[in-house]
Amino acid sequence: MSVTVEIGRRDDRPPVPPGGAGWSCPKCHQPADPAAVRANLQVCPACGYHLRIGARERIAQLVDQGGFRERWAALKTLDPLEFTDLETYPERLREAQAKTGLTEAIVAGTATIASVQCVLAVMDFGFMGGSMGSVVGEKLWRAAEMAATEGLPLVAVCTSGGARMQEGILSLMQMAKTTCAVDVINEAGVPFVAVLADPCTGGVVASFATLADICVAEPGALLYFSGPRVIAETTKEELPADFGTAERNLALGHLDAVVARTELRDKLANYLRLLEGGGTPERIRARRARSRSPRGLVDAAARRAKALAAHARRPFGRGDREADVTPQDFEA
Ligand SMILES: [Zn+2]
Repeated sequence: MSVTVEIGRRDDRPPVPPGGAGWSCPKCHQPADPAAVRANLQVCPACGYHLRIGARERIAQLVDQGGFRERWAALKTLDPLEFTDLETYPERLREAQAKTGLTEAIVAGTATIASVQCVLAVMDFGFMGGSMGSVVGEKLWRAAEMAATEGLPLVAVCTSGGARMQEGILSLMQMAKTTCAVDVINEAGVPFVAVLADPCTGGVVASFATLADICVAEPGALLYFSGPRVIAETTKEELPADFGTAERNLALGHLDAVVARTELRDKLANYLRLLEGGGTPERIRARRARSRSPRGLVDAAARRAKALAAHARRPFGRGDREADVTPQDFEA
């Protein structure tokens, strides 16, 4: 619960108004022309503060003109637990849909970023705090499946408050599902790049978001599993002032880079080219066409299932290769 409180406090940032004067940066308090802030990709021109942006705006910033084709937009969230807090889950979904114009907290499809083809999945914090319910997990899975079978790299822009309370254990299951999705990508040998935007927390940062080949974050983004208040109360220790920031995560080795939004598109394209072995877009396309293997995913899944079955039969205990992992380790 405290995580939600922490994130809620950060959510007070005033959005850039559609026009006119009167906007000032929530960090440096310098007044700025909203048009200039928008032209600077919603980054304060004075201090570089990165405002939160929705999935549609993010896609528009990253992809080439006409370079995005949305997929799986018709996937609908159900209410299997018939969950009600102050409102019913379907009511909360309808509100989120009306507010964001999205059907769910993630938008996915095929994209071209600076002439590099990829599968792109972008989360939206404005949709129920970017929480990961069954549809978010399923879309990420399908994006990974498409990347693996088409031989395309996957790019995921992650921003999330974590699990979706209204889906209970079904939401938590998405951590395992999306982790398996990354496994499929790895087996297929296609690159995966994750961009962590403010905030990226809970079950998303603890699953697919941090399993990418290259993991970058925007400056100042807050990235953590549990919020500072929870950790401080649990450990009874004072936390550093920069706890959970992208910069501190970079210093601790949890990230590969902190990339300003104004450089993100070009950097992503470079990462994808490098991970695909370099060369011009034409050479990459030719190489990809040669190596495309629709059977890859199926073979990978079969190998994994076989390995899991073998593992399940293997008793825990000394003498095993994983001897140090005993059931007692999980009961503490
Ligand atoms: Zn500023």
